[in-house]
Amino acid sequence: MRVKILGSAAGGAFPQWNCACQNCRVLRAGGFSGKARSQAQVAISNDGKTWFLLGASPDLRAQIEASPELHPRDAVRQSPIAGAVLANADVDHVLGLLLLRELQPLRVYATDSVHRILTEDNSMFTMLQRVPDQVRWTDFAPQIPFRLLEPSGADSGLRCRAISLGTHYPAYVSPQRQGELNSAEASLGLMVESASGKRLAYMPAVPQIDDALLKEFESADVLLFDGTFWSDDELIRIQGAGQTARQMGHLPVSSPDGSLTRLAGLRRPRKIYVHINNTNPMLNEAGPEYAQVREAGWEIAEDGWQFDL
Ligand SMILES: [Zn+2]
Repeated sequence: MRVKILGSAAGGAFPQWNCACQNCRVLRAGGFSGKARSQAQVAISNDGKTWFLLGASPDLRAQIEASPELHPRDAVRQSPIAGAVLANADVDHVLGLLLLRELQPLRVYATDSVHRILTEDNSMFTMLQRVPDQVRWTDFAPQIPFRLLEPSGADSGLRCRAISLGTHYPAYVSPQRQGELNSAEASLGLMVESASGKRLAYMPAVPQIDDALLKEFESADVLLFDGTFWSDDELIRIQGAGQTARQMGHLPVSSPDGSLTRLAGLRRPRKIYVHINNTNPMLNEAGPEYAQVREAGWEIAEDGWQFDL
């Protein structure tokens, strides 16, 4: 399986349009020891030809153009992108679907709850249903493995299984609608398995880690894990108000029960932080937080990284 990290930042990207935090300010001024990043986006392929997206970021158009493997190659109107697997209904995770509306056949995999939010409550998504067989939705349930199929129905060789992680739906989903939805389908991590049995764990939003989740991570060859915030009160300190990292569904990297400590015992997977918020001090490669993460055996994802497993 080939994995490409097309975007490695959290929602808003780095720098973020309305942010003048230390990181964003110094990056814009040209003095930052670290890289700009687009919003989180991963693409996977079993054969290097047919690709599936994990989520569909608002930066998807530029991310596709920056990745030659994802360019049309066999016809005037064609795409190696066969479909997308949705882990939640967050704007940062689904907006890119609207950028794929040019009548290209695609398969979109989502929980019934996320499917309903997008297609019943958000009329713009009917642009994906203008002709028969444009976008075929396939509902999946947490913990039930499913195959990723090409638009033709051919088996890509990739298998996916979702793990229920968070119970909060995006703020744009009305309270009434939220009451009708399954809270276990709100926010998921994705376990992807290749034809040869290699496993990728994509976990960009993890509110807490229990023993069952640790076991899942230990079964993975690569773990792409929630690197959104360094500390629980990061946004509050920078903005003067707001929610903690945990309230937003993200275990912070640091602190006694942060992910660095909680995942220190993992032996098998290559450990890579993704979905990094622009305020996170570990983006600064000259800083002590970056050094601490690297010394703990973690990598910090950058746009354009790819690897085979
Ligand atoms: Zn910022």
